[in-house]
Amino acid sequence: MSGNGQKPGGREVRLPARCGFIYAHPDDETFLSGALIRRLADEGGEPVLLLATRGDAGRKNGDYAHLSNEELGALREREMERASSVLGLAAVEQLGYPDGRLKEADEREAVEAIVRFMNKHRLEAVFTFPEDGGNGHPDHVAISRLATMAVRTGRCPTVRALYYAAPDASSAPIRIDAQPYWPVKAEALRAHESQKYAIARYFGPLDACPPNRRFECFVPAWEADRFIDKTETLI
Ligand SMILES: [Zn+2]
Repeated sequence: MSGNGQKPGGREVRLPARCGFIYAHPDDETFLSGALIRRLADEGGEPVLLLATRGDAGRKNGDYAHLSNEELGALREREMERASSVLGLAAVEQLGYPDGRLKEADEREAVEAIVRFMNKHRLEAVFTFPEDGGNGHPDHVAISRLATMAVRTGRCPTVRALYYAAPDASSAPIRIDAQPYWPVKAEALRAHESQKYAIARYFGPLDACPPNRRFECFVPAWEADRFIDKTETLI
């Protein structure tokens, strides 16, 4: 465990050292959990990321409209490498499924690959999208379902909890204040240069932490035992 102790607010912080983030596209990790990932790394943890796709079918506009899917995929891998070093991720792995068509993936194979990832990194907690994908994106919905299935196989004995990203709510059990981490989160967002239009729509100009995007929130979807008290605010 890392991060035990009292924060200025007087609340005990108990996040595990080995957290895995399982998302669909490069940039999902920064949008939803950039501050949490950086915090885990700063506390001596080893956060790792598994992406289902290379993001190679992302909307191509502006400076990137001329790129083929292959070129965009390669570019987004390089962007992900930069974001990874900004956030302090210990590893980034890709499943390599076609962007936009994850729901067509062979379910058994995908679950096996996620189980391998969780066991390889001896994950204690897994973070992913909620069941509705947060914004309804079919890849987000699919990776939430696949990651949940993988956790629930029971074949990853180190995994004690599964968390879904949640809308900002004061009642969310895990609530990370992104404001102190904003310079880092903004730098990671800027690393995903090809996504700058989507980023600007969601976060605005990045010069300051937008009040409506201040907290990264997560709710327990599954727990092996009383890993955390659901009524407890961790940060
Ligand atoms: Zn996405």
